[in-house]
Amino acid sequence: MRNIDHLVVGGPGNASGRTKEVYNPSTGEVQAKVALGDTALLDRAVEAAKKVQPEWAMTNPQKRARVMFRYKELIEANMDDLARLLSSEHGKVIDDAKGDVQRGLEVIEYACGIPQVQKGEYTIGAGPGIDVYSMRQPLGIGAGITPFNFPAMIPMWMFGMAIACGNAFILKPSERDPSVPVRLVELFLEAGAPEGLLQCVHGDKEMVDAILDHPDIAAVSFVGSSDIAHYVYKRGVDNGKRVQAMGGAKNHGIVMPDADLDQVVNDLTGAAFGSAGERCMALPVVVPVGDDTAERLKAKLIPAIEALRVGVSTDPEAHYGPVVTAEHKARVEQWIDTAEKEGGDIVIDGRGFSLQGHEKGFFVGPTLIDRVTTDMESYKEEIFGPVLQIVRAKDFEEALSLPSKHQYGNGVAIFTRNGHAAREFAARVNVGMVGINVPIPVPVSYHSFGGWKRSAFGDTNQYGTEGMKFWTKVKTVTQRWPDGGGDGSNAFVIPTMG
Ligand code: NAD
Repeated sequence: MRNIDHLVVGGPGNASGRTKEVYNPSTGEVQAKVALGDTALLDRAVEAAKKVQPEWAMTNPQKRARVMFRYKELIEANMDDLARLLSSEHGKVIDDAKGDVQRGLEVIEYACGIPQVQKGEYTIGAGPGIDVYSMRQPLGIGAGITPFNFPAMIPMWMFGMAIACGNAFILKPSERDPSVPVRLVELFLEAGAPEGLLQCVHGDKEMVDAILDHPDIAAVSFVGSSDIAHYVYKRGVDNGKRVQAMGGAKNHGIVMPDADLDQVVNDLTGAAFGSAGERCMALPVVVPVGDDTAERLKAKLIPAIEALRVGVSTDPEAHYGPVVTAEHKARVEQWIDTAEKEGGDIVIDGRGFSLQGHEKGFFVGPTLIDRVTTDMESYKEEIFGPVLQIVRAKDFEEALSLPSKHQYGNGVAIFTRNGHAAREFAARVNVGMVGINVPIPVPVSYHSFGGWKRSAFGDTNQYGTEGMKFWTKVKTVTQRWPDGGGDGSNAFVIPTMG
């Protein structure tokens, strides 16, 4: 049995002695055990980070960027191995796993431009002989607590920006698929980062609480489910930390009567079922506008969904693989039960799905539920599985109000050929990230990622200039250099040596 250890200066240790099983979701077998750390381990990591961070903060930005450049090359060289490892613990197919690494890598590429991004502002002549300049200084030690569903991308969103800005960073990845985060930290050290700048501690609530309570950790970035995000936000802020905490989602895809339905169906099969629906930017709710649109869409969706191939994560033909754990499979199936009891019409039922030869794998078949209404619990809550719900709207205004009033506000998409409708929708919808004929509108690395309402607590997004702002604080200097060196003579004096 492989053991997955902490990566902290001075060796892993594991005083707590607690461990947790890591599964291969395609086979249902335990393939490794991950150590669960405690406060003593975190203290050690923080002490090591404190030793290295001040010098890193004073390292000129071009030298910091050089480490990022070398890291980018190492990630590229290791892409296939990282994707295989990721796929074996998460269950997403290899192409999706490569996408996971690739989207994180793009933030590292952005961080290579940190000398430009972190430049301050300057005003000459704000008053007689007075100039004002502001600089963005790192916070010190930052920590990241990440979810299982993007074990490469989300850690890189966080530490890529934090470290490029001059901070040290402690990563606490999901205990369900921790191997890739460990590998990412190893590669960062290989890229020439000083020891202690980036460390990885594993754990569950005990470790998360230790991070939130540690007086020397200045900022915490969290991504995960909303109740935990809210908890992390409150406890971190109460302890005087800067906190950004991204939560769950229930993204809607609005289908206007004039949309290209073949394109919509193609987009929906990827966006609702890809990665087994375990994406915070998945599209698990489709909102056709008008009954005629609903019927036409459903007629095209059914054969497309029935044609989806569910397979082990290494199957190159599979559209998607298993969900992450047996518990999660049970939870997704319970949500389908609930939807049925609430009066949803189960058009395609993925419960009880079993893959021949892999009967112990955590597979859920693709599921389509029609006649879903806003009072249903299965609509209000996140299911996070390969389940697509149809909520019919009578007109544009009703369709606009559905995502706007939902408790989550991560992403939304509208499919239409009408530019005016799209423009109106983008301006008025109460959601943080909008796609127009784009089903999964995850912003590129030089914009920034963040939802609204219960999808994000705190007010700064991930990566881009928003990420730089989160990981730095502003210092503003107002300086006056009076003419004549201050002796009142008003003479212009150039100081000389000796
Ligand atoms: P999760 O909330 O279970 O876990 C996230 C992190 O919190 C993990 O590191 C975990 O160890 C820790 N944690 C778990 N229970 C805890 C507790 N009681 N106290 C303190 N810490 C705890 O989330 P998950 O299942 O790993 O990930 C899926 C969720 O993440 C979904 O809700 C998804 O929508 C969300 N997500 C959101 C975004 C976004 O940017 N908004 C991105 C990806 C995933």
